[in-house]
Amino acid sequence: MRTGARVVVIGGGVVGCSLLYHLAKLGWRDTLLLEKNELTAGSTWHAAGLCTQFSASLNITRLLMYGVELYKQLEAETGQSVDFREVGSIRLATVPERLDHYRDQRGLARIAGLPFEIIGPEEIGRLCPILSLDNVLAGAWTPTDGYVDPSSVTQAMAKGARDLGAEIQRHTPVRALQQLPNGEWDVVTDAGTVRAEIVVNAGGMWGRDIGKLAGVDLPIVPMEHQYLVTDAIPALVPPHREMPVVRDVEASFYVREEAHGLIVGPYERNPKPWSAQGIPPDFGQQLLAPDFDQIEDVLNLARSRIPALESAGLKQLLCGPTSYTPDGNALMGWVPGLRNFFVLTGFSYGIVQAGGAGRNAAEWIVEGEPTEDMWELDVRRFGPHASALPFVIARASEVYEREYAIPYPFEELPAGRPLKTDPLYDRLAARGAVFGARNGWERPMWFVPHGQPRGDEPTYRVPGWLPYEIEESRAVRERAGLLDMTSFAKYEVRGPGAEGLLDRLCANRLPQVGRAALTQMLTPRGGIECDVTITRLAEDRFYVITAAATETHDLDWIERHAPSDGSVVVENVTDSWGVLMLAGPRSREVLGPLTEADLSNRAFPFMAAQDIVVGSVPVRALRVTYTGELGWELHHPIEHSRALYNLLTETGAAAGLADIGYRALDSLRLEKGYRLWGVDITSQWTPLEAGLERFVRFDKGDFIGREALIRQRDAGISQTLACLTIDLEPGDSLFPRGGEPVLSDDKLVGYLRAAHPGHAIGTTIGLSYLPVPLSASGTPLEVEILGERRGATVVEAPLYDREGARMRG
Ligand SMILES: Cc1cc2nc3c(=O)[nH]c(=O)nc-3n(C[C@H](O)[C@H](O)[C@H](O)COP(=O)(O)OP(=O)(O)OC[C@H]3O[C@@H](n4cnc5c(N)ncnc54)[C@H](O)[C@@H]3O)c2cc1C
Repeated sequence: MRTGARVVVIGGGVVGCSLLYHLAKLGWRDTLLLEKNELTAGSTWHAAGLCTQFSASLNITRLLMYGVELYKQLEAETGQSVDFREVGSIRLATVPERLDHYRDQRGLARIAGLPFEIIGPEEIGRLCPILSLDNVLAGAWTPTDGYVDPSSVTQAMAKGARDLGAEIQRHTPVRALQQLPNGEWDVVTDAGTVRAEIVVNAGGMWGRDIGKLAGVDLPIVPMEHQYLVTDAIPALVPPHREMPVVRDVEASFYVREEAHGLIVGPYERNPKPWSAQGIPPDFGQQLLAPDFDQIEDVLNLARSRIPALESAGLKQLLCGPTSYTPDGNALMGWVPGLRNFFVLTGFSYGIVQAGGAGRNAAEWIVEGEPTEDMWELDVRRFGPHASALPFVIARASEVYEREYAIPYPFEELPAGRPLKTDPLYDRLAARGAVFGARNGWERPMWFVPHGQPRGDEPTYRVPGWLPYEIEESRAVRERAGLLDMTSFAKYEVRGPGAEGLLDRLCANRLPQVGRAALTQMLTPRGGIECDVTITRLAEDRFYVITAAATETHDLDWIERHAPSDGSVVVENVTDSWGVLMLAGPRSREVLGPLTEADLSNRAFPFMAAQDIVVGSVPVRALRVTYTGELGWELHHPIEHSRALYNLLTETGAAAGLADIGYRALDSLRLEKGYRLWGVDITSQWTPLEAGLERFVRFDKGDFIGREALIRQRDAGISQTLACLTIDLEPGDSLFPRGGEPVLSDDKLVGYLRAAHPGHAIGTTIGLSYLPVPLSASGTPLEVEILGERRGATVVEAPLYDREGARMRG
C-alpha cells in the first residue's frame, strides 16, 4: 500500500465515493479511499435507492437536484451503468392541512427551478392505477424524481474517480488516527500506515466510531429501517407503464416498483436505534433480523392503500441500519477543535444526497468554501451537548418517526428537551413563557397571559401566538420589555495578539476600550461568515457576542485563525454569563433607580459598555439594541440571574415593564431592518450585497475578504437585500415567514429571506435579495404565499425610526 496521500477518505459507501469523484474533478488526484470491506458494504448496498428532490430546505433541494442530474449522466461519462429511473414521485394528501404544506413546497420548488405540481385524484389514479384513492385529496407530483441502483451509482463514481487518478484500497480497515505536530495525520491500517495532509471521515454509521479515533464525539446514531419486497403482482407485469414512487405520508410509508413487484418502506413510530454504543467490530455487509411486529401498523395502512398487497407474496423483509443525527441532516465540514479533519457522514438519505454533498464537500476542501450555503449540514451547527447519546437517540427517533410529518413553520418539537436551562427558566415558565430551543437552550418565545390558550397549534397561516407577540412588541415600543437572552454565545478573546487577530477577522474597525461595535467576519470571497458584537474590555481584552445557534461555528472560525504562539487566548464563556435585554423608551426609569451609575446619554452613550452594579449584582451593561429602542443588554455572572431579574421586574412594574419573547424580537428587528445571520445574511452574500457597507472599513488596513470586496465594489453589485412591504389586509389568513417567491411582471426575481408583521408600522415586512434595478424604492412587486399572490412594494429601510433617534435615547 502507498505510504502517503494528500487526502485519505475513510469509507467506501456512496458518500465517500462521491467525494473522491468530486475531488478528482476539481484536480485533486493524490487521494486514497480506504474501505474496510467492499465498496457499498455499509448502508449503501441495501438501500431502496429512492431519489427525491422534495425537501423543506431550499439549499438541500438544490443539493438534491444536482445529485439527480449527476446520476442521469454518470453512465455516459464513466461507462458504468447506473440505472437511474426517472419515474417521478407523488406524495398523497389525505388531510386538508397537507395542502398548505404542498402549496408552500410549490413556492420553494419554483425558487429552486424544480418541476412540481399539485395534481388531483384523477391524475393520480391515471399514474398509479393500483392505488385505492379513498380519502385522497390531491398529490404533490415531482416528475423528475426517481430511483437508482445504489451500488451501481457508487461504482460509477468510484470508476470516475479512478479514471482521473484517485486510488481505492478495499479490505483495509482504519484502526487508528494519529495527528502529527505539523497537522498531518498518520492513518494506521493493517496494511501499513499512510501519511495524509487531510483525513475525511465518510464512515456512514461508523462515523461516530471513526470520530473517536481522532478524539471527537460526533452526534450520530444508527437506526434500523425496514422495507419489504413482494413477489410479482399481476397488475405490474408488462406491458404496463411503471408507476411513480408514491409516498402515503399520513400513513407513513413509501412504495415503488421492483421487478414487477413492490418495495414498501414504512417509517414507523417508536423506531429502534441499533448499537448506539458502538458498532460490533465484525459487522460488515450484513442485515439485521427483520421485525414484522415493529411495522405491522403501517403495513395495515399500506394494504388498504394498495389492495393488491393483500394477496402479494412476500419475497423479503429487509432490515438494515443507517445513520441519523439530532436533526436528520448529515454532518459536513471541518471538525471544530481538530486540524485537517473533515467529516462527511451521518446521512439518512445518503443515496440521493451523496452527489450534491460530495460536490460541496470537495469544493470546501479544495477551494476553501462550498458553492451552496451548507449551514444546514455544517457540523458546527451542533454544540457538544448534542453528542450525548440519550439526546441523539431521542432526537433521531423523533426525526425518524416524523419523516413524513408536516414540517410546520415555527414548530418546536419536544424530544430531548429541556436540556439547557438558565436560572430563570422556572420563573419565566410560571409567568407564562412558551419556550423554544436553540442550540439546546430553552428560550422564551412568547408569554401567555393567565388563562389564555398557549397559541402554539402548528399552522402555515396566522399563528395563534400573534396577539401575544403584538402586545409584547407594543410594550417595547411604548414602555419597556425584558428578554432573557442568556443563550447568546459569548467568548473572551485576550492576550497581546488579540487585537491583531480580531482586526484581521473583522471588516469593521475594532472599538475603543469601553465601547462596542457590530462587525461581520468575512470569508476570503467576501461572504459573511460571522456577524458579531465586539466590546473592548481593555486594550488586549475583548468580549465577543454572537447568536446561540452559531456558538460552535463562530468560536471555531476565531480559533482556526488564532496564532499558535500562545499570544491569544480564546475562551468560550457562554455558560457563565446570563443576559437580560432591557429595551424601550422607559428603560432608564426601570434601571436608573437600581444603580448609582449615570445612565444619561452623556455619561452612557449609545454603543458604550460599562461595568455597573445593579442592586447588588455586578453587571457588564452594553448600550446596544436589536429593537431600535433605548436599552441595555445586562450581561452578568449567571448565578446572579434571578436576583437581577427580580430587581428589574419589581421596579419595572411601575414603568409597565413586560416580559417578552423572541417572536416579538423577530418583528422589532425587521421594523429596524436589522439583519440575522443564517436567515438574511450568510456566507453566500457579501456586506455590500446585504446593505451593510457602513460596517466595512476599507481604510483600516487588511482584513480577510477585503480584496474580494474591493473587486466587487469596483465591478458593482448585481443583487442587493431590499426591504418590502407586503399588502395583507386585516383578516387575511396568509402569514409569510421567509421562503416565498418574489415576482416582477410574473417573473421570479427573488424570494423572501425573512418576513414578519411590523406592528408599529402596521404592515408585513419582508427582506429579499433582488436585482439592483428592481431594488429602487417604490418598485411594485408580488409575493406568492401558499400559491396566492399579494402585492408588495420596495421601500426604503428601516421603516421604523429612520434617524435612529429613539435608540440614541
Ligand atoms: C433499509 C434502508 C433503505 C434505505 N433507502 C434509502 C433510499 O431509498 N434513498 C436514500 O437516499 N437513502 C436510503 N437509505 C440510506 C442510505 O443507505 C445511507 O444514507 C447511505 O448509504 C449512506 O452512505 P455512506 O457512504 O455515508 O455510508 P455507508 O454506505 O455505510 O459507507 C460507510 C463505509 O465506511 C466503511 N467503514 C467504516 N468504518 C471503517 C474503517 N474504520 N475503515 C475503513 N472503512 C470503514 C464501511 O464499511 C462502509 O462501507 C436507506 C437505508 C436503509 C437502512
